[in-house]
Amino acid sequence: MKYIVLSLFPEIIHAFFRCSVLNKAARRGIVDYEAVNIRDFAFDRHRTCDDAPYGGGAGMLMTAEPLGRALEAAGVPPKDAAGRSGGKSGRVVYLTPAGRLFTQAAARDLAREAALVLICGRYEGIDQRIIDRYVDDEISVGDYVLSSGESAALVVIDATYRLKDAAIAPDSLAEESFSGGLLEYPQYTRPERYGILKVPDVLLSGHHENIRRWRLEKQVERTLARRPDLIRRGMEAGLFDTETRVLIKEKEKTEKIEKLEGQSSARVPIGEYT
Ligand code: SAM
Repeated sequence: MKYIVLSLFPEIIHAFFRCSVLNKAARRGIVDYEAVNIRDFAFDRHRTCDDAPYGGGAGMLMTAEPLGRALEAAGVPPKDAAGRSGGKSGRVVYLTPAGRLFTQAAARDLAREAALVLICGRYEGIDQRIIDRYVDDEISVGDYVLSSGESAALVVIDATYRLKDAAIAPDSLAEESFSGGLLEYPQYTRPERYGILKVPDVLLSGHHENIRRWRLEKQVERTLARRPDLIRRGMEAGLFDTETRVLIKEKEKTEKIEKLEGQSSARVPIGEYT
């Protein structure tokens, strides 16, 4: 996977690739990146890349010309008159709070591309004509407003590169949050006792079947308590096997009874008290 990141602050992207696990993946040839400084494509001697919006309003906008030239230098031709893009190897993404929401499914979808061109906005965003002329996809990393697109681009890079073959051990991916429609179970490592909290006995038992079942129960309990929307969507999409579906029904029943009795287990720590 090749990431081409267009930014006014490419040093942020360089730092991320230098310091994270990505560095290892880059050295192994799994990922490659290029950080393009949009300012290098500005006309004037001040290398200006922003201007006031037509029609008035607060703040400045990133201008179309330097950004368009930076995209073309990165190998992205403009779309044709019918809005079709062609002649390039990857998808052009503008990071914006007005985009479609970035989820694990969206990460899987983007990870199938050979290359991603990521446009990082600043100020109040970018001129709409850049979106109309070059952009294939607009993505938001969440329902909040960041001051810059770089942190959003790093989220997209981090979530997609690890889905590429051989970047991360397949077992870790299979069991993590969202992969099977549920959040991950709680995890523990040494020491066995931490203050008054002890690792649940079942994890020390060496009984693989009991451990598997306990983990599944915790996944269901957690997801029901924190993200019931995931359970609903997983049910609708037929993501869960029979054992998980039965467990969900049982836990839902228990939760209802607990609510009626005025108690809830959602916030109780899972580690056992000694
Ligand atoms: N005026 C814009 C709006 O209300 O939609 C917000 C601009 S924001 C201050 C500056 C840049 O940060 C955006 O151009 C975008 O690239 C990035 N950004 C901010 N929030 C984001 C989000 N939730 N997802 C992706 N990118 C975001």
